[in-house]
Amino acid sequence: MTLWKHYHTPSTLDEALALLASYDGRARIVAGGTDLLLDIRHGHVPPQEALIDVTCIDGLNTMRLDGDTLLIGAGVTHSQIVGSDTLASRATCLVESCGVVGGPQVRNVGTLGGNVAHALPAGDGTTSLVALDAEVEVVHQGERRWLPIGELFLGPGVSLLDPTRDILVQFRVRLCGPREATAFKRIMRPQGVALPILGCAAWLRLDEAGERCEDARVCIGPVAKVPARATAVEEALRGAPVDEAAIERAVGAAHESLSPRTSKYRATAEYRQEMADVLLRRVLPLAAERARTGQAVPEGVGME
Ligand SMILES: Cc1cc2nc3c(=O)[nH]c(=O)nc-3n(C[C@H](O)[C@H](O)[C@H](O)COP(=O)(O)OP(=O)(O)OC[C@H]3O[C@@H](n4cnc5c(N)ncnc54)[C@H](O)[C@@H]3O)c2cc1C
Repeated sequence: MTLWKHYHTPSTLDEALALLASYDGRARIVAGGTDLLLDIRHGHVPPQEALIDVTCIDGLNTMRLDGDTLLIGAGVTHSQIVGSDTLASRATCLVESCGVVGGPQVRNVGTLGGNVAHALPAGDGTTSLVALDAEVEVVHQGERRWLPIGELFLGPGVSLLDPTRDILVQFRVRLCGPREATAFKRIMRPQGVALPILGCAAWLRLDEAGERCEDARVCIGPVAKVPARATAVEEALRGAPVDEAAIERAVGAAHESLSPRTSKYRATAEYRQEMADVLLRRVLPLAAERARTGQAVPEGVGME
């Protein structure tokens, strides 16, 4: 089976957009190909007249520090994320999530942009970017603009982007400052290689005394059709000391507000619900401890 006829490696965004326009819907963006090529092989996406590879585009395969913000090109691989000292210390959850994607071969070619553009509510990199409140720069319907990441997702596997015409360009992540920290953990089938049973990322900011939670952002996935913040869990944390009682209130809020579904390949809804409790009890104290001490060393990277 021929998966594509022509393969292009443009070096500028304009060149890539012109190529997409010239194929008029018969060509599609590819990055690492770890999702797309399987989708074509399994018949979920039709064979393509052409693939337009975005990983050689200037600026899409690099990261750039701009004050307290890191700009991450959509074509940056999971391995590049794992190798970033800045992300390890100041956006630790992203390193922890990209560090467990697939195995080393997948992480070496699979990209953060591909993870997000695939729009699955279980995507590991996506879960952390939502908790980090990342923004995404896109070229959509010919217009280049920034959006909050949440606005990108329309349904399972469906995003605002038409991959035959639009391009996800880069992410903007505000790095953790004093008394802020993040953590990510996931539950995976022991024999699993793709997508977790459940993942959870949290960002916390503590007060001056390092006791109360001033602000919180939490993303648990998959528990809905699109990756989204667990706002009831966040509400249960804000203003309270990050102690056992607050964490149990957060667990209670997760029970009341989240509705994971049963997946025949991964887990039942009930099991996922229980795992949400487990993950919150692991992730929240870890993020709080990192925020208190100002020390964050990614855990679990490359272990699965
Ligand atoms: C063995 C294996 C294990 C895996 N394990 C995990 C895992 O543990 N966790 C996890 O989250 N995922 C996992 N994945 C899925 C996949 O590797 C990741 O989602 C990866 O980040 C996808 O990136 P990619 O560059 O390969 O995307 P591609 O396959 O190149 O593209 C994916 C989709 O996004 C579109 N696209 C890509 N880049 C852009 C862009 N810049 N602009 C617009 N559209 C774009 C493509 O057209 C396509 O529709 C696994 C996959 C495999 C094969």
